[in-house]
Amino acid sequence: MVEKIYFRCTVCNDFHYGNNPPQICPTCSSINAYIKVTELEADIVLFEKQTRRGKNQWRLEEFLGVLRDWCEDSDFSLNADEEHVYLTLDGVLRNERQNGLKYCPCRVPTGEFEEDLEILCPCNFKTQETWAEQGRCWCGLFIDPERYKVE
Ligand code: SF4
Repeated sequence: MVEKIYFRCTVCNDFHYGNNPPQICPTCSSINAYIKVTELEADIVLFEKQTRRGKNQWRLEEFLGVLRDWCEDSDFSLNADEEHVYLTLDGVLRNERQNGLKYCPCRVPTGEFEEDLEILCPCNFKTQETWAEQGRCWCGLFIDPERYKVE
């Protein structure tokens, strides 16, 4: 039997459980917005099962591999500055260990569960001012290779 995987829509936080993510999100109609996530993340977001915190977490290399796969055939990529990418992902995974979910390392969770789902990494970064103006997500983890200029 093929193992089923959880996927999260990075635009509306809809979850899908299956072998592959839908190309079009049935909830918000975004295209190719689903990213593979752990069962832990799905459990916490869907059912607030905070008791499972600390189990089944990805290591940095696993998370990096998932993000690299996600960037394939997209109009965005990971920042070419590997040190910056490692530091950012280290912050995301530290947040997961400490706060239960992969919150953005550059923003402070409010403590309001629903509101903080907006800053799960990867977030809906194409709506951010930094994306429109500089071609990068708020933390510079993802960039638009056509527009992003190293300062
Ligand atoms: S701004 Fe970048 S690093 Fe922060 S959550 Fe969004 S995608 Fe992740």
